[in-house]
Amino acid sequence: MPKILIVDDDNFVRNVYAEKFRAIGFEVLTAVDGAEALEEIRRASPKPDAVFTGIEMPKMDGFSLLLEIRRDSATKDIPVVISSHRGRKEDERRARQLGAVDFIFAGLVTPNEVVERIKAVLGGLPTYRVALNKGTHDAMRLAEDLDADPSLACRSCGNDLLLEITYVPQEKCYRLFFVCSACGQRAVGF
Ligand SMILES: [Zn+2]
Repeated sequence: MPKILIVDDDNFVRNVYAEKFRAIGFEVLTAVDGAEALEEIRRASPKPDAVFTGIEMPKMDGFSLLLEIRRDSATKDIPVVISSHRGRKEDERRARQLGAVDFIFAGLVTPNEVVERIKAVLGGLPTYRVALNKGTHDAMRLAEDLDADPSLACRSCGNDLLLEITYVPQEKCYRLFFVCSACGQRAVGF
């Protein structure tokens, strides 16, 4: 499960994003400013996969936070996305110079688009593994279509197969495989 740290002094903004990311399966950490964010990051194990932060905050602003993250060898590779309400070009330039992977003008982008952009930053494609009702007609048909055993048992170890669904944004489609819940081996799909 990917982990994201959301940093903003505005409760409403923090909660909107926390809910959106939880809804798509992220573990969410939150902080009200850069100082609290650094504490969260240092305490977190494993470290967050991404940090999404505003700029202006009471104790430590987003730029200083980004700088601190980059300075620590334990955190320097965590991608940081900066969001600004003001949409100033100089803020974007500064964010990029300091190593932000993306800069979002909060007023122009919907929360859903922000989530998509952060998912893109993380690189991994959204993947779901679901168990089908064994023995149902459609489960058997699908197993046959995807070249898996109709009883939904792994051909190597005999354990249950799960249907793995991966969204491929470039193709705007889902890819399906059966994968073993125990040994991880994939039945060859098409
Ligand atoms: Zn197996």
